[in-house]
Amino acid sequence: METPRNPNPYIDEDLQALADTARRFAEERVKPGFLERDQTRDLNRVLLREMGELGFICPELPEQFGGLGLGCLAAGVIHEEIARADLSFSYLNLLASLNGQILSKYGNPEVVGPWLQKLTRGEAICCIALTEPRGGSDAANLRLRIERDGDHYVLNGEKTSISAADQADIAVVFGRTGKPEDGAHGVTALVVPMNTSGITTNRFDCHGQRAIGRGSIFFENVRVPVSHRLGDENKGFVQVMHGFDFSRSLIGLQCLAVARVALEETWKYITERQAFGQPLSAFQGVTHPLAQYDTEVEGARLLCLQGLWLKDQGLPHTAEAGMAKWWGPKLAYDVIHQCLLCFGHGGYDRGLMEQRLRDVLGFQIGDGTAQIMKTIIARTRAGRKFVPA
Ligand SMILES: Cc1cc2nc3c(=O)[nH]c(=O)nc-3n(C[C@H](O)[C@H](O)[C@H](O)COP(=O)(O)OP(=O)(O)OC[C@H]3O[C@@H](n4cnc5c(N)ncnc54)[C@H](O)[C@@H]3O)c2cc1C
Repeated sequence: METPRNPNPYIDEDLQALADTARRFAEERVKPGFLERDQTRDLNRVLLREMGELGFICPELPEQFGGLGLGCLAAGVIHEEIARADLSFSYLNLLASLNGQILSKYGNPEVVGPWLQKLTRGEAICCIALTEPRGGSDAANLRLRIERDGDHYVLNGEKTSISAADQADIAVVFGRTGKPEDGAHGVTALVVPMNTSGITTNRFDCHGQRAIGRGSIFFENVRVPVSHRLGDENKGFVQVMHGFDFSRSLIGLQCLAVARVALEETWKYITERQAFGQPLSAFQGVTHPLAQYDTEVEGARLLCLQGLWLKDQGLPHTAEAGMAKWWGPKLAYDVIHQCLLCFGHGGYDRGLMEQRLRDVLGFQIGDGTAQIMKTIIARTRAGRKFVPA
């Protein structure tokens, strides 16, 4: 089953072939468990390993780290195809791409090398722990303590709302090595094995994305070798945060892929369902909202691909990533809402549409809200000193 051909300048023949292969895997292996995983809240590690064996995790990483050296657009088309089948499951691709980039760029090769191999093979999950109970938007204002003790760092504090908190094997953790008043300049990032003594986790009862799940991570005198530091001491925030420009375009694509499959199903359904002696498609009140959303989805998708293309070219893409991150999830939510309404009472039952709606909503908050994205866009356009937080 091939993906529909809708040529655009970003996706060449090779990427289209990759998308077709990813769609076959997603349709045959990921989609069948979509509803069940929401109930069991279990990610299915067997499936994760299969995905890794097929090369669908971090294809953008160089081969030395277990990737295929294919570029960020390749990651984008795979994210789309897996998300189309199950957004929550595709969170694994997202975490791997975001963290894979951070680990490969800033990690000590001897420490991160074996983890990257496991990550790309689907044998390990890496979560990212930034948000704290006192707030996530003002991310640089974090308080988890990281103190130096000889050749170790000692961590004390709590991270919260962390995707895959209780399923991850390692975590990228941001903590304060400097003074609170140092803001973003006193933050250090570490890679922390989740089985280190002193770490405990819990799990929240989430509205959506229930297979990946979210929870808190508690650190009590957790000792991590200095070799596990990512980037320079006190520079963790400034250096490592650039990785989020990559994940933001990917999140846009993931959510829009869910919107696209919802639209496809709805276009079909309205030609089959009858009302007042005609198919629903005879009523402009039904088709015009869908036509408008379809237009917006096509445009938003191109913006996300542009962000990845710019990254592949080594060009600035912070504004495009911010746009993709706020527009994609918001638009996807509105689209799926409209699609659900087209299915009438059936759309309100537990099933594909309502689960998609719950799943995409999470990305209006996770990885930064629309307000924060718009501030980032404003800063790149007007200049940082003219746009205070
Ligand atoms: C599904 C999901 C997955 C997540 N996964 C992770 C993860 O893996 N790792 C991780 O570290 N975190 C994760 N988070 C946490 C997420 O990053 C934070 O929830 C988010 O950054 C917002 O922080 P907050 O919830 O503390 O809201 P707050 O910072 O308290 O903000 C509350 C509201 O005020 C608005 N607001 C705040 N400041 C401003 C401002 N200056 N201007 C305008 N509006 C403002 C916000 O937009 C928001 O609407 C996840 C969250 C969700 C929902």
